[in-house]
Amino acid sequence: MSTVPVIEGWFTTGDSPALVGSGCTMCGTVFFPKIAGFCRNPACSSTEFEDLALSRHGTVWSYTDARYQPPPPYIPVSDPYEPFALCAVELPEGLVVLGQVADGYGVADLHVGTQVELVVETLYTDESGDRTIWRWRPVAELGEEADR
Ligand SMILES: [Zn+2]
Repeated sequence: MSTVPVIEGWFTTGDSPALVGSGCTMCGTVFFPKIAGFCRNPACSSTEFEDLALSRHGTVWSYTDARYQPPPPYIPVSDPYEPFALCAVELPEGLVVLGQVADGYGVADLHVGTQVELVVETLYTDESGDRTIWRWRPVAELGEEADR
């Protein structure tokens, strides 16, 4: 049995997991998932990128509740289907990354602007072991008002 990411190369694991994106070596624009070929910044013609660990913290930009089982290629992880929450998180790098909300949390824990942290959790388990995916976990908002 082993613990393996559902998608190889999209995120690191361990105590401080992070998404892995591409940073353009010429203009500095960051992309996720990783890209190859020409930089997508229209003002840049670079083809050189470096792997970059993205920020583990971000801000909820939008969110929704997946009340009904999505169509294939979605892989049902439970039978019967259990609703889960999805959120789009804006990272300090300026991009928005979609992800599920961590186990034990739902839309009631989210609002636009909620601070979240990237965690890696088991999406499903098959005969070869646990398959993991990144998720977003709301972080305590103590002191948030004081920061404004
Ligand atoms: Zn570029």
